[in-house]
Amino acid sequence: MHEKSIAELAAALKEGEVSSVELTAHYLRRIETLDDALNAYVTVTGEQAMEAARAADEARAQGHAGPLTGVPIAHKDIFCTEGTRTSCGSKMLDNFIAPYDATVVARFKAAGCPILGKTNMDEFAMGSSNETSYYGPVKNPWDTERVPGGSSGGSAAVVAGRLAPGATGTDTGGSIRQPAALNGVTGIKPTYGRVSRWGMIAFASSLDQGGPMARTAEDCALMLNVMAGFDHRDSTSIQRPDEDFTRHMNTPVKGLRIGLPKQFFGEGMDAGVARVVDEAIAHYKGLGAEFVEVDLPHSDLSVAAYYVVAPAECSSNLARFDGVRYGYRCEDPKDLLDLYMRSRGEGFGPEVKRRIMVGTYALSAGYFDAYYLKAQKIRRLIAEDFASAFKEVDVILGPTAPSTAFRLGEKTNDPVTMYLSDIYTIAVNLAGLPALSLPAGFSDGLPVGLQLIGNYFDEARLLGVAHQYQVGTEWCGMAPGGFV
Ligand code: GLN
Repeated sequence: MHEKSIAELAAALKEGEVSSVELTAHYLRRIETLDDALNAYVTVTGEQAMEAARAADEARAQGHAGPLTGVPIAHKDIFCTEGTRTSCGSKMLDNFIAPYDATVVARFKAAGCPILGKTNMDEFAMGSSNETSYYGPVKNPWDTERVPGGSSGGSAAVVAGRLAPGATGTDTGGSIRQPAALNGVTGIKPTYGRVSRWGMIAFASSLDQGGPMARTAEDCALMLNVMAGFDHRDSTSIQRPDEDFTRHMNTPVKGLRIGLPKQFFGEGMDAGVARVVDEAIAHYKGLGAEFVEVDLPHSDLSVAAYYVVAPAECSSNLARFDGVRYGYRCEDPKDLLDLYMRSRGEGFGPEVKRRIMVGTYALSAGYFDAYYLKAQKIRRLIAEDFASAFKEVDVILGPTAPSTAFRLGEKTNDPVTMYLSDIYTIAVNLAGLPALSLPAGFSDGLPVGLQLIGNYFDEARLLGVAHQYQVGTEWCGMAPGGFV
């Protein structure tokens, strides 16, 4: 069963070839036997999943099934789940039982998808390797001595290891796409505002966006059909008519104009990644797509601008964790100040503290203009670069990450090198555009991801362009040894 995609599982459920109870139990057994090697789940909610599976089978028997009724999924532990611990990968929230469901979680519940559990992640989604998690790093199923990427590394690993057919992720600077690339799965960061952020623990609010991770683009489209939609509880949610994200699955790419940003094809990309990207370009040419070089002149400033904007917003968002209202509280505080300082000092890990300090500095009187305001101006220039490029092309193509999965511990002592893992993904968040990563081949036995960037609200087309590649190649069907 676990070799099937979400689309295939949905069909099998519909035909009565399998029940949700059987399917959910099967995944729970796999998690029990295989997750010790990966550490990809921080919480497994077996009982609730089985209860939801029974309800899904019941709904189907009564003729009330929707497209995904009965398909079990996993949620990144950044999404609040009522009655279940929501840790965000942090000691600070290790004891936090969310009192309500995030909109995304509620939507999947309403769609009849049992929740297998919550996936491991970098602490407060800050990281590119999953090594900043309070619960220890996730291991990459393709090579358990290597990182799965981050921050949605647990979600990517459960999909790659066939411990869930699909999982939710969030992407502030690349955290859906980069782990998708490093695990050989597909993931899409939608246009900013498409997916509600309500109940999704905030890191950098102007950049954060939830999205699906699954084996194929078609599966991501099916999940996005559930996740996306207006939410009055999120002030940046966008009000648009409902749409079917699978509608371009069979649209041919013949005549599609694909832009290759010259800045993405310079130095810095591993030779193995470059080879795979070139082969993907050749494949699309064979399907009749046309390639044009595009210029994104400010893209080399994106990492620097991001590491002002994201820490600034995080320093403000994370001020709420003060040891008073919820989360970790230190033992025997002397006074209020001691309570604040020790609760935060003991509850947050080193990367989170680094970001809070950088952000507080950048926002402080006298430095705001020099850093935050400047970064916001660069952000506008980056968005304008994309706007000009999209006058010439329909889609932009490039690598997702500069290398394949690196070894655990390889970059932990060098934050700047770690930050450069997102060199091709961050500009997209600064501009608010949709982008996906799809598996496009291997280099030395490790998966390589291809990135497709679209214009605002062009998710359906992006997913269709990815699907057209996936029906003609085998990469998205491949499973790591030991997880077949
Ligand atoms: N790796 C980037 C960071 O550490 C992006 C994280 C994310 O997208 N959540 O900030």
